[in-house]
Amino acid sequence: MMNRMNSLLCKVEIRFARFARKVLAVAGFLLAGATGPSLAQKAVAHDPAEPPSGKPQAKFVARPAGRIARQTVDEKGMRSLISELVECGTRLTLSSWSDPKRGIGCARDHIAARMTTISKETGGRLQVVVDKFEMTAERTGGKAVPLENVYAILPGTDAKLAKRIFIVSGHFDSRPSDVMDLKADAPGADDDGSGVAVSVESARLLSKIAQVHGGLRATILFAAVSGEEQGLLGSSHLNEWVKQQGYTVGGMLDDDIVGADPAPGAPHRVRVFSGNGEIDDADSASRELARAIEEIDGRDAIRMVFRVDRYGRGGDHYPFYKAGLPAVRFTEPLENYDHQHQTPRTENGVEYGDYEKYLNFAFMGNVARDNAEALRQLAMAPAPPTNARLTGAVTPDAKISWAADEDLLRAGFEILWRETTEPRWQVYGFTDKAGETVLKGVSTDNHFFAVRAVGKNGARSIAVVTEIERRPPPMPTGTKQ
Ligand SMILES: [Zn+2]
Repeated sequence: MMNRMNSLLCKVEIRFARFARKVLAVAGFLLAGATGPSLAQKAVAHDPAEPPSGKPQAKFVARPAGRIARQTVDEKGMRSLISELVECGTRLTLSSWSDPKRGIGCARDHIAARMTTISKETGGRLQVVVDKFEMTAERTGGKAVPLENVYAILPGTDAKLAKRIFIVSGHFDSRPSDVMDLKADAPGADDDGSGVAVSVESARLLSKIAQVHGGLRATILFAAVSGEEQGLLGSSHLNEWVKQQGYTVGGMLDDDIVGADPAPGAPHRVRVFSGNGEIDDADSASRELARAIEEIDGRDAIRMVFRVDRYGRGGDHYPFYKAGLPAVRFTEPLENYDHQHQTPRTENGVEYGDYEKYLNFAFMGNVARDNAEALRQLAMAPAPPTNARLTGAVTPDAKISWAADEDLLRAGFEILWRETTEPRWQVYGFTDKAGETVLKGVSTDNHFFAVRAVGKNGARSIAVVTEIERRPPPMPTGTKQ
């Protein structure tokens, strides 16, 4: 009798569990419909359920408080810096480094002075460096020319993360129509006075936060580089410089042409370009940085473009991207080519030239806030996991393993997954320790997987995609894999 009773109770429990699952499924469907097409698409797709009994409820740690408020951005300061840069006449890298009134040296002086003032006003944390070097390229006429970059470094406060560096960069050189013409005016208000202004304003916003809250865990480098127009010379050098100083690049944010937004309905979203990388069936670290920025700043602020740069064009993130580092490019929504790389002139009633009057500071201020907030949260986060692996092919379960150094300020790790056709990650589960986790009843084949670290403060590292174990299919002898 007792046994019968037990088995009856057991059946009731099973029925109740099935009922509860149905309720959850319906709730999930409604929620999906309310939160966006990507989730809704999942709910209506007629595919086997993975896992069959439903995904575990992941613990959710709220993102960090203290988001940088838009009204704290100093648009006036950004505008006056750009005016100073334009007034240098030309900032061609081959122009004078020593004339305080005209040429690229004039621009270096203004930027270094700004950074020094910011440092003084925020307790002296910000270290200003003028880095001098020489480079040779086709666009230096094949001979070595002097170059200088300006850096302001906000040191990380966590001994374990202080050698992890996040970089925001704009290029302070400009060019007229002829990239070798040292005499012509090259105002370069948008390209790239705007990116320099974003880098300097980010330095101001984050130094202030560091002064009030005692600093961020990782180091941030605010850069203004030269030589971009002569062939990405300054940023290639910066990539080497940070390596020599013993830093690991956690992320590089290149801001280039982020000042104008003339289309009706402005301010629009800023575009963030990220390359695919060269990993089979997965994404590059740069793509993960783009996703992290979009998650931090929101889809209404960031328009991700899954392409390394504008079609057929390049920028300062490229040397970092090619080195396998996480690097993205911010650029305004829709460019006007009459205002780029043009010697100022009027032809057939068309005005050419990169003037300050075309800039939109409401838009540019948004870009500064978005950069600074992304840097803040990334520099507050634990280090990303390492050695993320996916195994379990030809078994019913996906197994994900990863390693991580000890970190007392880390809450744990989020296991991420997405449909192979989906642009964004979803959180599958949460676990507090590194090692291996088995996703019961989840195929290795139908999703991509990644892991990221979550701080107790809610800041997330960029995601690290799981590398797959190589199981090359049998192929005819002599075929190259
Ligand atoms: Zn540029």
